[in-house]
Amino acid sequence: MRVAKSLNGLKLMKAELEGSVGFVPTMGALHEGHASIIRKSVRENPETIVSIFVNPSQFGPNEDFGKYPRTLEEDLKKCEESGASLVFIPDRSEIYGDQKPLVTFNVDGEMTSILCGKDRPGHFEGVVQIVSILFNLVHPDVTYFGEKDFQQLSVIRKMVSDLHFQLEVRSAPTIREPDGLAMSSRNRYLSDEHRKLAPEIYKTMKSMRAKAADALFERRAIPVEYAENEAVKRLEGFIPEAEIDYVEIRNDDDLSKSRFLSNSSRIFIALKLGKTRLIDNMFLGKRNG
Ligand code: AMP
Repeated sequence: MRVAKSLNGLKLMKAELEGSVGFVPTMGALHEGHASIIRKSVRENPETIVSIFVNPSQFGPNEDFGKYPRTLEEDLKKCEESGASLVFIPDRSEIYGDQKPLVTFNVDGEMTSILCGKDRPGHFEGVVQIVSILFNLVHPDVTYFGEKDFQQLSVIRKMVSDLHFQLEVRSAPTIREPDGLAMSSRNRYLSDEHRKLAPEIYKTMKSMRAKAADALFERRAIPVEYAENEAVKRLEGFIPEAEIDYVEIRNDDDLSKSRFLSNSSRIFIALKLGKTRLIDNMFLGKRNG
């Protein structure tokens, strides 16, 4: 496995790769969720490039950019064990330079001012900015994003289509701890007590999936608003100390909202336990997701 720490290094090392390139962008602090995406890319492509870059432009002024975990040595070990060919660890100064950019991104609000975009103004502009820069540098054939950040996955798919990036976006399923908590670099900040309560997010989504399955089977129309309130009530009952950011059910394909649950509904939850913000989502229709 090679490691490129500069744009020039990436260019030289990439020239030696042969065959289709799978690309997994990450912010480091890698866990089994990241490793499973890297392994998927390794299975599907002769070469896999992983990037590790904590992107400042997607963090708001009061967010945890400075405190975001940085565990480079372990990350490199995980990349190697997972079969990556090349890890790209660019320097902030090389990515953004010190001049104000001429071209900036302005993303449409329909997909980006909802869910995680509501409380994080500028977040998706930052995501679209860094991902398009990385696509231009890496030139992958296929790129991989996790369903854990489903809104991000939807935004990237739309961006790739809008800007005609010549690559394919593939998704990877959410990897969970044995008790159902979605793996996240931020889980390490949960207190013991909060860590015990956090799987209630998964249990709530599963209970909503069971209700949706019954309703779809019996052809009963369940209003989305009613189902969202049920989920909120369950969360408030089991984790009263959680500060709920949102519980929303939206359509899987374009994140639009419907009046009734359908076979394309997906539930999205974001809440804070102490200072740690957790997000998760689950498809409520018939196929797995
Ligand atoms: P991040 O380092 O948080 O930017 O995440 C890098 C990639 O890993 C993104 O595509 C995430 O959606 C994905 N990811 C993060 N957590 C998980 C997880 N628990 N299971 C699967 N993919 C994940």
